[in-house]
Amino acid sequence: MPNPDLAQWLQDHTDMLGRLEDESNSPFHTALYESIIEAARTGNLRMADSVVESAAAHAVAVGRSLSALLRVPHHLRQRLWERIGTEVDPEPGFEMLYALNPIFDHIAHATIESYQAGAHLAHTAQSVEISRRYSEAEEKVMQYAAEVARANRELARLDQAKTDFISIAAHELKTPLTLIQGYVNILHELDIDPQTRTLTTGIDRGVERINSILEDMLDLSALDLKKLRLALHPTHLHRLIELVMVQAECALAERRQTISAEGLADLPPVEVDVSRLHQVFKQLVNNAIKYTPDGGQILIAGQVVTDRPHRRVRIIISDTGVGISPEDREKIFEKFYRAGSSALHSTGKTKFMGAGPGLGLAIVKGLIEAHGGTVRAESPGFDRFNYPGSKFTVELPVKATPAPGIGVDWIGPEQEQKLIQRLTGESD
Ligand code: ADP
Repeated sequence: MPNPDLAQWLQDHTDMLGRLEDESNSPFHTALYESIIEAARTGNLRMADSVVESAAAHAVAVGRSLSALLRVPHHLRQRLWERIGTEVDPEPGFEMLYALNPIFDHIAHATIESYQAGAHLAHTAQSVEISRRYSEAEEKVMQYAAEVARANRELARLDQAKTDFISIAAHELKTPLTLIQGYVNILHELDIDPQTRTLTTGIDRGVERINSILEDMLDLSALDLKKLRLALHPTHLHRLIELVMVQAECALAERRQTISAEGLADLPPVEVDVSRLHQVFKQLVNNAIKYTPDGGQILIAGQVVTDRPHRRVRIIISDTGVGISPEDREKIFEKFYRAGSSALHSTGKTKFMGAGPGLGLAIVKGLIEAHGGTVRAESPGFDRFNYPGSKFTVELPVKATPAPGIGVDWIGPEQEQKLIQRLTGESD
């Protein structure tokens, strides 16, 4: 079982590793420590297994005894027991020690097994030299494994910092923004001259834009912190997508683009949160508009997928736009990621290549996965002149299968109708 307190404590106390009397055991010692952090963080013992396997192969090759090898985890276990026992409060401390036991038991067993297997292999090996070289390579692998584990932890820390930033910034900015909005509303109601009215309308638009970015940031932090709740009801996606298409009419006309749909009316009702799905399709259609040149085409196609145990629906949104390079296809779903150089982007919500903060697709992915679905992007590549196009495929289970940690409320048909009415009144 993962124990985040233990992982954090181990990470903060790498100084306690100290030096080993037997210097040649040192890489094993360090890599083992990293693998224990990994096991405490994720509950996964794969790294511990490969570290032990490498150390055993090395020990066999250089003729070190099994008991000398076992001294390393034994020594580490004792040291951890002592330090946690004296430095950590009893309540988390006990849980931490309790979490350490199965990890060390596993390591001891795996060490014995790997050593015996290695000894058997070495016995049958023709040349000692081969096994010595092999052991050198294994030792390097162990060092790399420790480095990768450290880098992974750093990445996880940075990702957490992003989540914290989003949540704090959005909450802190929301209050002053509401204040500005309030004052602008008062100004609107006053008898002001046309010139001032133009200015207040400009402020209004700016406030609205910031507000929508803040809403996106709040959604992302709710998704990251697993605080999102879905209001589920069996929904006809074609009604929802048609609404999105109607709402995009202005932008499509401005960009002289066409949009069409096929196969949507045949889809079965899907148990989803209608407001959240509206948000998803609105984002994907807006992106298709933004990243497709004037005069381009957008197609939304629906299919039923039956080749799995649970029936799913698939919605494909394809465009005739700039496309996405292979290296960006996964990364565009990360928060704050914008493909290509920012110099290539213009500003504006529906303008060609209009830059946004890079949150839209991260929210799309979070919302679809919260429903137990998947989203992926496909494209022959990025080409600003030949327009190879992109294809976004969303798959959703027909019967709700929300992701772990996502709260669910079932709503009735009247409530769903009210939500749809509210969405219908929404301007773009
Ligand atoms: P942004 O706010 O920058 O539009 P998104 O998260 O919506 O952020 O998209 C991330 C990046 O993915 C965009 O900057 C763009 O480079 C790329 N992208 C999204 N949709 C498309 C599309 N339909 N065609 C080409 N590129 C796209």
